[in-house]
Amino acid sequence: MIVFRNVSFAYPATQVFSDLNLSLEEDRINCILGPSGCGKSTLLNMLSGDIFPQSGKIENAEKRVSYVFQSPRLVPQITVLQNLDLILKSVVKDKAERRKRIVSALELVELENSGDMYPVQLSGGMAQRVALARAFLFPSRLLLMDEPFKGLDVALKKSIIGAFLSLYGREKKTVVFVTHDPDEAVTLGDKIFMLSDKPATVLAEFSVSEKQSERKIYDAELGKIKNEIYKISENR
Ligand code: ADP
Ligand code: MG
Repeated sequence: MIVFRNVSFAYPATQVFSDLNLSLEEDRINCILGPSGCGKSTLLNMLSGDIFPQSGKIENAEKRVSYVFQSPRLVPQITVLQNLDLILKSVVKDKAERRKRIVSALELVELENSGDMYPVQLSGGMAQRVALARAFLFPSRLLLMDEPFKGLDVALKKSIIGAFLSLYGREKKTVVFVTHDPDEAVTLGDKIFMLSDKPATVLAEFSVSEKQSERKIYDAELGKIKNEIYKISENR
């Protein structure tokens, strides 16, 4: 379990966290739900080791981390296969083995015929599915997702979430999924940590027991949690 213990962090003019306490569940989808500017990306950057708490500590932080952002961030000059090989090369020496893993990840995100395409030839949804495949190909224990579905229409979001769940279903990682959208939070989170405005603290914590693949956005359990979330944000 990765634990934030009394973590404080400030930029020169902004106190983002003071005494944040949070326990992330292993091999589960931990959703960080909070308003824009509350410190969600800052929290992920502390998990990836790009920045460090100024006081307090993060226990059991992982060294190998995968990241998925709002934009796919593929290397434009090389093909999909080459983009995926780029991250795998450093950890798997055998070329045939790398190829096997890449092809199987592409199948899971339904892009088995797109390996030779260049990023510019992909639709936004296809590119984001490649970014997800890349995140799972890298042998990390921790996957950080920073608003990866932001700005997508409902149908596209559904298909990309489906691709994510296929990858995650085959190989669990500890996922920290950041969003400002309660629908996304209840669609994916096993745990939902609702953050306040900065300095951000945990306002509420929810657990969702139902399997992601069986959840419907109109489920009563999910509706109840969303109502709680709306109620808490309204009363602040
Ligand atoms: P979120 O991801 O929840 O929208 P961020 O973690 O990006 O929020 O930012 C939290 C706060 O810290 C915001 O007020 C933001 O303006 C500020 N901030 C973020 N990055 C920097 C930086 N590099 N320098 C100074 N202030 C920053
Ligand atoms: Mg952010």
